[in-house]
Amino acid sequence: MTVPLRIVALSGGVGGARFLRGLLAWGEASGTALEVTVIANTGDDMRLHGLQICPDMDTVMYTLGGAIHEDQGWGRADERFTVAEELRPYGVGWEWFTLGDRDIATHLARTSLLASGLPLSAATARLCARWDLPVALLPMSDQPVETHVELASGETVHFEEWWVRTRAAEPARRFVQVGVDDATPAPGVLEAIGAADAILLPPSNPVVSVGTILGVPGIADALRATPARLVGVSPIIGGAAVRGMAETCLATLGVPATAAGVALDYRARFGLLDGWLVDDADAAAVPEVQAAGIDALARPLWMSDLGATAAIAGAAVELALTRS
Ligand code: GDP
Ligand code: CA
Repeated sequence: MTVPLRIVALSGGVGGARFLRGLLAWGEASGTALEVTVIANTGDDMRLHGLQICPDMDTVMYTLGGAIHEDQGWGRADERFTVAEELRPYGVGWEWFTLGDRDIATHLARTSLLASGLPLSAATARLCARWDLPVALLPMSDQPVETHVELASGETVHFEEWWVRTRAAEPARRFVQVGVDDATPAPGVLEAIGAADAILLPPSNPVVSVGTILGVPGIADALRATPARLVGVSPIIGGAAVRGMAETCLATLGVPATAAGVALDYRARFGLLDGWLVDDADAAAVPEVQAAGIDALARPLWMSDLGATAAIAGAAVELALTRS
């Protein structure tokens, strides 16, 4: 019996989920048995219509469960909107955050599991069982940690309102992780990090996805202490976020929106990062990253299809397993 390679990945929503699908495809194609633990950002979580919604974990669950709306990258395939249509005339809820019927069923199930006394990690495991998920999906914490955005105007809004409703139109002065001081890593998080052969940072948003996870007390410490190497994939290609608005989040921290800028920021803020993949278009950034003591390689980093994504994930795993 082959011993599976134990991999831990820190994931946000769409970027993380796509990468994870590639990682699993790489495992199959290369005949490498994988045991993957995903530590997911829950800073985007919110309550709407009394329902507990976990946007990033749902994106990972639907993507790896084969139920994602492929073009959108989030939400359910073959969705219908009867509930939203019936809610609209009542003027209840948020116009800018439409929930589909199938998606609502997930939130109803989660909310009732939580109401029955289960912590979020156990409720998540119950939801994932339906999809026969090929990874262990863990929330970063069982305690609520909400990302709030302090705007230039002085107003503070929930991250999802800033991101989805206003499309981050007004610059953020500061991100605040409400509740983080009292949060502890969810059961299994520290154990998985301690036992991992490789730790991966998918090309998720470095500020409000990966950065939020790393803000939970204990997680960055465990990552620094674990013997496994930590390798990340740049979410920035040619000075811009791919299919996203991560640049504006980096600007808030004063971090250059470049492949090297993100790598050096992981080092500066968290003392982490052993390896870094940049896109071929950013090959010129490799020496700068290497000068900081991080192994850097240039590879094609567009997750354009499953094969391309599998190659990215495979390169990340191989770099993590290479001792420099
Ligand atoms: P969210 O929570 O749904 O916003 O998703 P994530 O935080 O997991 O990922 C968002 C990030 O994925 C964005 O900042 C993008 O830069 C990055 N991203 C999306 N598609 C690609 C891709 O094809 N290649 C790379 N390198 N990054 C990507
Ligand atoms: Ca997110």
